[in-house]
Order: sequence, then C-alpha cells, then structure tokens
Amino acid sequence: MKKVTKYISRKTLIYKTDVEYGDYTMNHVLGCSHGCKYPCYAYLQKKRFGNVTSYEDWCAPALVKNTLELLDRELPKFKNKIKILHLCFTTDPFMYEYDEIQKMSLSAIKKVNDAGIKCSVLTKGILPIALADLSKDNEYGVTLVSLDDGFRERMEPGAAPIAERLSALKALHEAGCKTWVSIEPYPTPNIIQQDLEAILEAVSFVDKIIFGRMNYSKETSSYKEHKRFYNECAQKVIEFCTEHHRAYHIKDGTITPLKENKNV
Ligand code: SF4
Repeated sequence: MKKVTKYISRKTLIYKTDVEYGDYTMNHVLGCSHGCKYPCYAYLQKKRFGNVTSYEDWCAPALVKNTLELLDRELPKFKNKIKILHLCFTTDPFMYEYDEIQKMSLSAIKKVNDAGIKCSVLTKGILPIALADLSKDNEYGVTLVSLDDGFRERMEPGAAPIAERLSALKALHEAGCKTWVSIEPYPTPNIIQQDLEAILEAVSFVDKIIFGRMNYSKETSSYKEHKRFYNECAQKVIEFCTEHHRAYHIKDGTITPLKENKNV
C-alpha cells in the first residue's frame, strides 16, 4: 500500500460539469498517481493553472481532508438538482494501492447515497467489493483502452493491472451492481496494434460501453487514417452493443461525418 503525503482543504466540492455525459461531479483529490501519459487532460489543466508544478507533483495525490464535511454542507443544497453525481473527472477515486483514498471515496459515496442521490464511479484502479453494499442504483465503471499490460505500463504507469481491474468490475456485476466501461481515449494503430473486438468481448458483461477517440495526442493526429479508423471503431462498438443489447455512447468528435472525411 502507498501513503498519502499531501492534504489540502477546499471551500466547495460539488459542481455542475460541462463534460458531455456528466451531470454533477466531485473531485476530492488533487493529482493522480496513475500518471497517464495520453496525456491526461486534468493534469494539463492543473499544470496550466498552477495547481501542480510538475508531473511528479501531479503523481503524488493530495487528499481533500474536509471532503465529508463539505458533503454534509452541500448535499442538502444540491439534493433536488442532481440526477447522478460522478466521481471523478479530474482525479481517480480508487487510485491503485491508496487505501486512504479508497476509504474516503467509499465514505463519500455512502454519504451521497444516504442523501438519496446515486453515484457513477470511474477508475483505473480496483473497485472494492464493498461498493456492492451501497445503493444498487450506483453505476460502477473502469477505463479500459487495451488488454495489453505492456501498453498499460507505458501509458498508465501507476494504474492497476488490466486483469485486476476487470475482475473487480466483474465481481460487482455478479453482485448485482450496474457496471460500465469507458474505452477512451482509444489509441490509433501507430500507437498500438490491437483488436477492438477482443476488448469488447472481454467487457461484454457490462451494462454500458462508452467509446471515444484519443485527443491532444500528436501521435494520433499524425496517423493519416485516424478519422476513418475512429469511424470504423465506433461502428464496431455500435454493432456489438446492438447485438448484445447493451447501452452505448460514442463521445462527440469520435465519428467524423463522411462529407468532412475527404482526406483520410
Ligand atoms: S487516471 Fe484519469 S485523472 Fe488519473 S492520470 Fe489517468 S487520466 Fe488523469
């Protein structure tokens, strides 16, 4: 297990997000030990605004120590507005091997559920089985863009191994929880050659699949066929989900309309 070494206090926690499939969200940690090198949009933003000084600083998470007090104060105020509260958009609630962050996230989700609000959760860590004891309206997700652990070590160096991530998700599915997978940011073949269908098969037990292209990456934009590639991948996801009666969402900008698709 790893230890949290930095603590911060915040004045507010819950906010409405403009992320396309989001409603309200909370980020009770600054930084993320997973250190994704896609690159991570949250890291780029926090660095730009001076919240973190370097990649190393970003990878040493700072826990918001007054998280539960802020929830006590804010939940009554937001109660009738929130359809679903997402953890998290700018950090990871189940950061791999950080027991203290896991405990805080579990307590936070319980508090949100006790206020009558459901949560959606997304991680590249391990979803604890204790989540199965919380509201069955919650939706538990993992990000999975490859089944290759070599790729994971290169691009998500601090995140949980793929097999562990998947088996934790499956255990929650088998315990009757709603589960989902985010296949985003999906890499182009010049980054890794892989079979999207194998990934879809590996996650075929989940209730919903979100698929999205890789943004902010020079490697992806330099791949000449990237628009055509993402159109074909999105089509595969749609066909797979339709055939298996699964919900799906293709992120904005992943499919390029054919009329704009002249030069690929
Ligand atoms: S898990 Fe998410 S927040 Fe953490 S470094 Fe990776 S992309 Fe960023």
